[in-house]
Amino acid sequence: MARGQDDLQHRGIGMTSQRTRERLIQRLYEEGLSNAAVLEVIRRTPRHLFVDEAFAHRAYEDTALPIGHNQTISQPYMVGRMTELLLAAGPLDKVLEIGTGSGYQTAVLSQLVERVFSVERIQALQERAKERLLALNLRNVVFRWGDGWEGWPALATYNGIIVTAAAAEVPQALLDQLAPGGRLVIPVGAGDVQQLMLIVREENGFSRHVLDAVRFVPLLNGPTA
Ligand code: SAH
Repeated sequence: MARGQDDLQHRGIGMTSQRTRERLIQRLYEEGLSNAAVLEVIRRTPRHLFVDEAFAHRAYEDTALPIGHNQTISQPYMVGRMTELLLAAGPLDKVLEIGTGSGYQTAVLSQLVERVFSVERIQALQERAKERLLALNLRNVVFRWGDGWEGWPALATYNGIIVTAAAAEVPQALLDQLAPGGRLVIPVGAGDVQQLMLIVREENGFSRHVLDAVRFVPLLNGPTA
């Protein structure tokens, strides 16, 4: 990048420009994301609106960033990767998301599936996520303040479930709430590094696929203000 351009970016001009976003999409493609619909949604979703203003200039880097309350907005690659895994067998109508956080993954999902049901344990994060999605006119999302270990039983079953925090073990409630053929994408493990898993509800039981090594904040217990 030319020096002058770099200076401009550091002063905040153009930091969220179309060209900056294109570079991110190119990078995600090179890293192996291949679902054109997913890449297109990431291209048009304004990630800078989902991070604190102090980090807005880094919103189109492929990196996790702090969102307060010791939580992070997921790395765009991971958002794309998990979304691709969820959608790999075809379109989904009902998707349950555990860990709304900033609402960025929620926003991406809501543009690719019929309806999203999103559970978050920290009320303040949930409120801000709600406002962001409304501002973007993404209205096919319902939010719940609660404990993701329990899923959202009243509205089960779901064709897809995505968990954006690491669980020491796969929550039984989430398995129970998967529809036949339903897909669960979840980081599993108690340490700093976990395994991304894809679990599919088959006619007789579940098939389990262990995928990438990943790093997520932990799935904690119980709702909190
Ligand atoms: N997808 C979010 C990632 C947020 S980080 C984003 O891109 O912004 C993980 C989120 O999971 C945090 O907001 C955290 O508060 C939430 N979380 C952790 N344990 C939870 C639980 N038991 N139930 C619901 N949400 C939980």
